[in-house]
Amino acid sequence: MILSHKYEDYRQQIREFALSEIAPHARRLDQQQVFPYEHIPKLNELGLLGMVVPREYGGTFTDTLTYAIAVEEISRVCGSTGIILAAHNSLCTYPIYVFGTKEQREKYLPPICGGGELGSFGLTEPGAGSDAAGTKTTAIKKGDKWIINGTKCFITNASVGTTFITTAVTDKSKGAKGITAFILKRNLPGFNIGKKENKMGLRGSDTAFLHFDNVEIPDSDRLGPEGGGFKEFMITLDGGRISIGALGLGLAQGALDCALEYARASEEGGQPVADRQDIQFKLADISMQIEAARNFVYEAALAKDSGMKFTRLSAMAKLYASEAGHYASYWAMQILGDEGYTERYPVERIYRDVKLCEIGEGTSEIQRLVISRELLKGTS
Ligand SMILES: Cc1cc2nc3c(=O)[nH]c(=O)nc-3n(C[C@H](O)[C@H](O)[C@H](O)COP(=O)(O)OP(=O)(O)OC[C@H]3O[C@@H](n4cnc5c(N)ncnc54)[C@H](O)[C@@H]3O)c2cc1C
Repeated sequence: MILSHKYEDYRQQIREFALSEIAPHARRLDQQQVFPYEHIPKLNELGLLGMVVPREYGGTFTDTLTYAIAVEEISRVCGSTGIILAAHNSLCTYPIYVFGTKEQREKYLPPICGGGELGSFGLTEPGAGSDAAGTKTTAIKKGDKWIINGTKCFITNASVGTTFITTAVTDKSKGAKGITAFILKRNLPGFNIGKKENKMGLRGSDTAFLHFDNVEIPDSDRLGPEGGGFKEFMITLDGGRISIGALGLGLAQGALDCALEYARASEEGGQPVADRQDIQFKLADISMQIEAARNFVYEAALAKDSGMKFTRLSAMAKLYASEAGHYASYWAMQILGDEGYTERYPVERIYRDVKLCEIGEGTSEIQRLVISRELLKGTS
């Protein structure tokens, strides 16, 4: 997709920042599994922590295409930093802005949009991943308070976030319509962050359990109407899938960058690797996959901003870009041969990182179900 100068200039700005400030740390974050605390003030300064929120609440309120480009360019050099950004913006700041009251926006958004703090989204539970309506966490109303009990797992930014949104069953008899969303601050009594996951990829990002043990919150921290939580979180995931698409796209581009650099610089049997036709064919195929993924992601972003229903397009963007990322990193590693199998080059890290895109925010199988459901309904 050909973009205007406005977008390409923005891409260049983020690319330069990513290369100078993020890329030099990517291997260390992965190897040592350390969270990039040092990146957060820099991302904040660039306005990347409040991208989907208006200025009156501390954000920068760019359009979704600009946001997708930012996630793409950061992920091109560091997937871990990419997912930190994606989860924070799409999954925490966005739903608080869209579903929150004026008081909730004023109270909760400024610290995480411009204030340098991070947000987190707790939907998944042991036994309730794809089946998010199978939530077991409960919230029982006592006067004007709610008492929350339960466990959430695989939560991005869990140990490092200050603001969380989560779902709990408030009326079991109503199924998905008996699930309500809540906003929580991390220092509440009974709210504990659990074990951090030792992951295959995105190892610089933080993924951990949330435990709620009689956590008491006021009704004013309910996000949206009683029983509206499941729907709110599904709407949130529609947008989140654009950013996971951008994460997969950036990782795919990072793999191609590496394969191109290697093919240009290396020789095999006295012949430059780039001169071999089979390598050229493979580079062309990777590039074609990436270009198609870019079109999917940007089209979904444009659809979201136009106000049209974009559920099918965002599922397609995530699914296609995830699979393009898998393809690109697999074949980039093959082009590098034994070198690709080492930590000297980023492709092996990208190969591990990109797998998350086929799992998080709905697996590839769930995206196919979403796409066909929308087709059969004839809604988009
Ligand atoms: C690194 C990482 C970060 C994450 N961050 C967050 C986060 O910030 N917040 C959050 O809430 N969650 C997060 N998650 C959880 C993630 O969203 C879930 O892993 C995802 O929704 C899939 O759920 P599951 O892993 O329980 O898989 P399951 O639902 O157990 O699925 C297992 C397999 O069965 C298939 N399957 C399941 N149901 C169907 C069906 N109906 N039809 C066809 N196939 C099906 C799946 O596609 C998959 O192949 C994260 C996960 C990871 C790995």
